[in-house]
Amino acid sequence: MAVQTVASTTDSAKTVDLGPAAALSCRECGHRVPLGPVFACEECFGPLEIAYDFSAYDAEELRKQIEAGPANIWRYAPLLPVPADVADKPNLNPGWTKLVKADNLARELGVTGGLYVKDDSGNPTHSFKDRVVAQALEAARAFGFTTLSCSSTGNLAGAVGAAAARAGFRSCVFIPHDLEQGKIVMAAVYGGDLVGIEGNYDDVNRFCSELIGDPAGEGWGFVNVNLRPYYAEGSKTLAYEICEQLGWQLPDQIVVPIASGSQLTKIDKGLQELIKLGLVEDKPYKIFGAQAEGCSPVSTAFKAGQDVVRPQKPNTIAKSLAIGNPADGPYVLDIARRTGGSVEDVNDEQVVDAIKILARTEGIFAETAGGVTVGVTKKLIENGVLDPTKTTVVLNTGDGLKTLDAVAGTGLTATIRPNLDSFREAGLA
Ligand SMILES: *Cc1c(COP(=O)(O)O)cnc(C)c1O
Ligand SMILES: [Zn+2]
Repeated sequence: MAVQTVASTTDSAKTVDLGPAAALSCRECGHRVPLGPVFACEECFGPLEIAYDFSAYDAEELRKQIEAGPANIWRYAPLLPVPADVADKPNLNPGWTKLVKADNLARELGVTGGLYVKDDSGNPTHSFKDRVVAQALEAARAFGFTTLSCSSTGNLAGAVGAAAARAGFRSCVFIPHDLEQGKIVMAAVYGGDLVGIEGNYDDVNRFCSELIGDPAGEGWGFVNVNLRPYYAEGSKTLAYEICEQLGWQLPDQIVVPIASGSQLTKIDKGLQELIKLGLVEDKPYKIFGAQAEGCSPVSTAFKAGQDVVRPQKPNTIAKSLAIGNPADGPYVLDIARRTGGSVEDVNDEQVVDAIKILARTEGIFAETAGGVTVGVTKKLIENGVLDPTKTTVVLNTGDGLKTLDAVAGTGLTATIRPNLDSFREAGLA
């Protein structure tokens, strides 16, 4: 596969092998640069993303190769910025999570066209973030970084800590200091450094940008900053898996949560690639974005018909989605409009309701982000925006054990003495 000579962090020429990844290309002006730990276009400051050379692929061969691959994201290695032997390297090997046919939830919401929950709480650190970190780790390896870092709303910190532990990297990650206890413990337990910043996620992110430009951050791979083009590609695997699990078919509608908006834009990129490669039949699909009302800069812009996303100060229990200044917001607006989808938000009460609906109908305990997507799905159906007669996939991107406080009101049905009379008195017989 393509082996390139690029400038490494020490500016000495270094050979990297990132499989089919051919270059970095600016999403705004198309300017191309060699693969390296850079994320902004030198011409226009637009975001860089991976450009591939897929020209040698034959659809039937590729499908067979994928189906014979491991039950994790590396079955899609031919479509990712990773070397061909990636499966042999120490990595958490996330992905290939369950696509649950959610018939009970479908009945509850009035969906007749087939409703599925893509349950990414089944990843090694219980959120979808393992997918993106796995890509960033391979890029970090290729570029010679030995410390992994990130700015995080919680889940990313845990995913980076765990991946670094497995791969033998140092990790030092940054989070808002007031996150849920479950998120803090699940990030700290892997033994890396976890730093709380006095401020919200946008403050954390700004701090990390400063650190990258400072000698103190030299040699550090920030998975969602200087390694962001590689990191972001991990979300494509959600699109690949959903289609493969549907029997190599596109769903009609997908509901995706939005934090920075990266995941949503790369799900669209993944679907487009499958169409171009001839792995799925080309037909229209709609992508819907989901936000919490207390941090809804993208849905606010969508509803106002605007192209620019005005930053907000987040205030919601859906902390994993609480990015007030989402980097990919404008691209999310483009995709929702191009595909005929939309962006909607629900309030915290609706988030909690949705967590409980999903749990009691399907036995899936989602974190608040999952409550946001299920809640938005319900609202979109009620408003006649989402078509209940079409095949619909809803993402659950994190595990409810991480955000127990959100459902703290749920508990014992009754407390009884250990005898049958007491049990009967409680009315449970
Ligand atoms: C990070 C995250 C997302 C989406 O993040 P993007 O920045 O939009 O890619 C969704 N759900 C959970 C649980 C997350 O942690
Ligand atoms: Zn550019």
